[in-house]
Amino acid sequence: MQMQGKISTGAKSLGCPVNVGFLKQQRRTSLFGKGNLTRESLSSSRQQGHVRNNKHFSHSIRATVTEPPNLSKPTTCPRGSHWEVHKFGGTCVAAATRIEEAARYLVSEPGNSKLVVVYAMGSHPTSPVKVTDLLINMVTKAANQDEAFLLDLAALQEKHIDTAKLLLGDGPALTEFVSKLMEDMTNLKAMLQAISIAGMSTEAFEEFVVGHGELWCAQLTAAKCRQLGADAAFLDARQVLVVSPTSDGNSVDVLYEESNKNLDAWVARNGIPRIIVATGFIAKNPKGQVTTLKRNGSDYSATIFGSLFQSGNITIWTDVDGVYSADPRKVPEAVCLPHLSYHEAWELSYFGANVLHPRTTLPAMKYSIPINIRNFFNLTAPGTMISGGASVPAGVDTDGVKGFATIDNVALINVEGTGMVGVPGTAAAMFTVMRDAGVNVIMISQASSEHSVCFAVKGADAVTALAALNKRFADAIKSGRISKVEAIQDCCVLAVVGEGMASRKGVAATTFAALAKSNINIRAIAQGSSEYNITAVISQSEAIRALRSVHSRFYMDQTPIAIGLIGPGLIGGTFLDQLREQCEELKEKYHLDIRVLGIAGSKQMVLSEDSVNLNQWQAEMHSKAQPTDLGKFSDHLSRSFIPNSVIIDCTASEVPSEYYLDFMKKGIHIITPNKKMNSGPLKRYKELKANQRSSYIHYFYEGTVGAGLPVMQTLQHLLGSGDRVDRIEGIFSGTLSYIFNTWGTDGRTFSEVVAEAKAKGYTEPDPRDDLAGMDVARKVTILARECGMDVELDDVPVHSLVPEPLRSIGSADEFMAKLPQFDGEMDAMLKDAQEAGECLRFVGVVDVANGKGSVELRRYPKDHPFAQLSGSDNIIAFTTARYLKQPLIVRGPGAGAEVTAGGVFSDLLRLSAHIGAAS
Ligand code: ADP
Ligand code: ASP
Ligand code: MG
Repeated sequence: MQMQGKISTGAKSLGCPVNVGFLKQQRRTSLFGKGNLTRESLSSSRQQGHVRNNKHFSHSIRATVTEPPNLSKPTTCPRGSHWEVHKFGGTCVAAATRIEEAARYLVSEPGNSKLVVVYAMGSHPTSPVKVTDLLINMVTKAANQDEAFLLDLAALQEKHIDTAKLLLGDGPALTEFVSKLMEDMTNLKAMLQAISIAGMSTEAFEEFVVGHGELWCAQLTAAKCRQLGADAAFLDARQVLVVSPTSDGNSVDVLYEESNKNLDAWVARNGIPRIIVATGFIAKNPKGQVTTLKRNGSDYSATIFGSLFQSGNITIWTDVDGVYSADPRKVPEAVCLPHLSYHEAWELSYFGANVLHPRTTLPAMKYSIPINIRNFFNLTAPGTMISGGASVPAGVDTDGVKGFATIDNVALINVEGTGMVGVPGTAAAMFTVMRDAGVNVIMISQASSEHSVCFAVKGADAVTALAALNKRFADAIKSGRISKVEAIQDCCVLAVVGEGMASRKGVAATTFAALAKSNINIRAIAQGSSEYNITAVISQSEAIRALRSVHSRFYMDQTPIAIGLIGPGLIGGTFLDQLREQCEELKEKYHLDIRVLGIAGSKQMVLSEDSVNLNQWQAEMHSKAQPTDLGKFSDHLSRSFIPNSVIIDCTASEVPSEYYLDFMKKGIHIITPNKKMNSGPLKRYKELKANQRSSYIHYFYEGTVGAGLPVMQTLQHLLGSGDRVDRIEGIFSGTLSYIFNTWGTDGRTFSEVVAEAKAKGYTEPDPRDDLAGMDVARKVTILARECGMDVELDDVPVHSLVPEPLRSIGSADEFMAKLPQFDGEMDAMLKDAQEAGECLRFVGVVDVANGKGSVELRRYPKDHPFAQLSGSDNIIAFTTARYLKQPLIVRGPGAGAEVTAGGVFSDLLRLSAHIGAAS
């Protein structure tokens, strides 16, 4: 069909003219009977005025490319370093303005001859769908007999005509392009309708359809270069590149001899323009059928052309500054690598760094052509140089590790059985089965006990792999020689890549420790003896966290910790203030990067992706709050990109304790001064502790006893270092310490001293909460359990200082009013003690030797350390095998927001040291 003058676009115009064209075309080429459908065949038939019959065309439709006769200039293409190859990725040519920028760049760059490979138009804000994706979807829709493919086709036509108009303006260049486009549209529509009628597609159909994006884009780019005055020609790569599919069908090998011949023939026909704009992605197979280099194949096209031309260099223009140490969409802290060796680039792209097609480096290596990956939107960035020779370090000391990547959605096939041990050929049989089933094996691991072999395959291949293995090993399974053939789905392969790892020790240890510290389970590992990569199979749901965690381990000199604070009250608020003050120092001295990702009150919580602003957290609690949900709160922390997270429970409430186990299971460490968990139900406590020991989770609770005083740490160190703790005795309540240190020194009665303590805010609002001794009983329970005693809170007898008749009366005021009635009894007790040269103290006792704990009012001689106390100090005496004659004593202020928050802080530093921060 002819397009002259006026150009119509859109679905409507497609309906009519394309249809006419389709009918004409069908008659002319007998598309679905005998004959080939290609631009080349169509144009040559037109030129020659007849329809070519292809003797190979015996079964389905074939989309082949036939060469026009060799016309003139029978010369060969001069190869060599005066050629440079440029490849423009999808985003670089996603709109008219971008194609124009690319063309201007090419035309304005002086010097060398250029072979330019372009991709189909990619995603752009004005038209987000990638052309290749659209083409692939169209085939799927047609095969499903979904007529919507017609709409997609119309949209494609409109997109390209609009782009051409903007790019080329009115004139012959536009007319020529649109005319070719409409011809293609006609053919595509015919092809898709055939697929739709048949209700199925074939690979050959699909390969023919999906390469059109590159054809149109390369034509547009060449036309623009010519319009800008350059000597530029369009090259349909199907006329030059010959490739054959690899055995798994996932990629292609290049037939260099044929491709080189074709290049010479092309040059003979077209001469040697200064700029050749070639299509990426497409080629033909040895049978002459259209094929592709598979998704992302244009990178591969570029280096194949590089090696055909033996070019001086290859520049791959894309939308990022180069190859990053990890996919920058998944790891925001990834850094752009200045240099990679061919091997490193290959490993990274093989393991899923989709900035490069996995085979990209192979053709370039043939002639040692350097590949430069550059950002077309940031020309000042030097990019990543990929070349031979020794790998250049990453810029920071990363132990020779360069990058990290994942292959997502794989299944781990696990074959187990004693029958495999020492039986030669089992592994060979297994992998022959995989080859025969067309299943690509991504990674293999076999324990040297030979008891099990496991390997990773694409998730979609798992069923085929299992069926094939079960069939091949049916006898062995029946006889029990093979006990298990299973597929573990939803896995991912994480790769750590770097040539420099080969000579370093500890890289594997660091990698696996980082994963363990982020509570990520490793299902299988492999390291080739080349030591270019270490791979681990992990659960898919943990892929991003794993990437971030290993990346930060090698690349960040800061240890990041995410904090979720529950209970921003007096202690929690004070802790946040302390944290704000210390943040900078922690960064500098301890290389700790602490970020508060969430604060939860009893009703409202605030969550942040990278950190709540500690200067205005109260305001954020109001402006950005949502209803508190501790499940959601912990999910937010565990899913954050920060590999280490900790929840700090600064409440006095029972509620958070119920979630601790869930926090742990999500890989979150816990710090708390809240006594409810450790003095709560023994079963719950033991379950938590058992879980903590079997994981790498830390649970610190220094603040539960003696506020910031090093009580728990001291006890843990004594026990951990093999000392035998016989007895712990102490004044654990700041309030009661104050009351007993004061009472009897100035002639006031017991109730007067209590009233004063209440007035000064040293007691709970209802002083009975202190006087009942329950708080001390909780501390005794906590210490007793730490010493290995199975005690419940109820097992600890408590001497309550609340007189029996006052225990059940209503208000605190009434209690205070009636307390003086009991002064006689209390003062008599005190007098008794004083007359014996002693004093009264309210103490908690853990009698480890006898397996008992108690809370008592005891008498101590005036020279006893407990008698020397002042203010609200706590004192704790540890009598142990090593500290037998003189107990080990910890003494100091044991109550108040500042010191309790300080205890929480010291737990945080302890945690940081455990997870690898500087100490
Ligand atoms: P193009 O269209 O230019 O071929 P691609 O989308 O195929 O572009 O590849 C570039 C994209 O690859 C980047 O935008 C980035 O999101 C992604 N990518 C994944 N891994 C890496 C990595 N390690 N380094 C750089 N980019 C990566
Ligand atoms: N446009 C093709 C694709 O999307 C080729 C390429 O990406 O290089 O797969
Ligand atoms: Mg790409």
